[in-house]
Amino acid sequence: MIEYQLKDNDFVVKCPKCGNNTKFKARSQQVAEDNCEVWVECDCGYDPTDEKIGYRYEDVWGGVHEDNVRMALECWNYVINEGSISD
Ligand SMILES: [Zn+2]
Repeated sequence: MIEYQLKDNDFVVKCPKCGNNTKFKARSQQVAEDNCEVWVECDCGYDPTDEKIGYRYEDVWGGVHEDNVRMALECWNYVINEGSISD
């Protein structure tokens, strides 16, 4: 796990719990022999992909380097936006 600090931005959806969109914890976990999941968790601990399965970025090697974190942030945006539509 690494802490990931972004500059002020308009492209990351704010955390529905605390309004943060710049400070995240990036995580990576191996889920199969050749498949890892990468996702971000808010600084407050909120993780939308913990409630909804299938929204984490999948990568062969995993890891929390910048490219994967960006993809994980896209997933963050997607799952929160989708959640707000269905609520
Ligand atoms: Zn938060």
